[in-house]
Amino acid sequence: MRGHKRVLLAAPRGYCAGVDRAVITVEKALDRYGAPVYVRKQIVHNIHVVRELEARGAIFVEEVDEVPEGAHVVFSAHGVSPAVVDAASDRGLQAIDASCPLVTKVHREAKRFARDDYQILLVGHEGHEEVEGTAGEAPDSVTIVNNPDEADTIEVDDPSKLVWLSQTTLSVDETMETVRRLRERFPNLQDPPSDDICYATQNRQVAIKKVAADADLVIVVGSANSSNSVRLVEVALEYGAKAAYRVDYADEVRQEWLEGVETVGITSGASVPDVLVQQLLGELADAGYRDVEEVRTAEEDLIFSLPKELRGEGGARGGRSGVAA
Ligand code: SF4
Repeated sequence: MRGHKRVLLAAPRGYCAGVDRAVITVEKALDRYGAPVYVRKQIVHNIHVVRELEARGAIFVEEVDEVPEGAHVVFSAHGVSPAVVDAASDRGLQAIDASCPLVTKVHREAKRFARDDYQILLVGHEGHEEVEGTAGEAPDSVTIVNNPDEADTIEVDDPSKLVWLSQTTLSVDETMETVRRLRERFPNLQDPPSDDICYATQNRQVAIKKVAADADLVIVVGSANSSNSVRLVEVALEYGAKAAYRVDYADEVRQEWLEGVETVGITSGASVPDVLVQQLLGELADAGYRDVEEVRTAEEDLIFSLPKELRGEGGARGGRSGVAA
């Protein structure tokens, strides 16, 4: 029906099991030890979550040398290198590791392949915290490959002993293109033992691909430093959305984005609480987009147990809106 304004709401979207666990870890640490609790880096890459935790007494720092000796420090969901763990220990900090278990899995792979004398081609974005942490497990064995073009130029020591691993939050399609081009040059390149791009990243990309095909405009809720949120904008554009933007908050939506738009697709990154999506739906309803249809491509039911220091008081809570629970 022409002129019919509607919203297609992608599902799964929003919080993944690793983000839920990391946020609860800081909340429980505040409950148990009292404020302040220090957190190295943003616990998850979402400005709203960080502000809310700051309001409750969390203090976010860049490095552990900013934390007073002996204090509690939480490591973020993106994982840390052994050098960071050692620095915290040297300072007598009481560290609680909120690294996502799916990131820790990639760390284990990196350690194992390095021990077996492989050169590891780590597909990921240089400078991203997760990539720094994974590379830090085996700095002498890891070569970072940022994008498909770099696959054509990187140098390797022994083409017969190569494996690729990846950051967990990349575009699946772009990563496969990078690997295809690597394999053209290095036919013996070994695959990771299992997918490194995590279930949540993959599921959110599949859902937005379906939505984007029918959308004049896609709005992704997520922060600028959230890798998986930024990838959702790119994937939406690749799969047919006429325009796609990322916002932290609903009030960033510009009037001109909606001009002539009948179908708005909405999703959110894995670090985004669903309340922010609900606020966006409210804004769009005010603009006449009241017909909301959910487009679901997968069910998620994963929950990770809390770090051992915080277990025993009910475990990770499930059932949050938008949580992979
Ligand atoms: S996006 Fe994936 S790897 Fe990152 S915290 Fe969520 S589940 Fe873990």
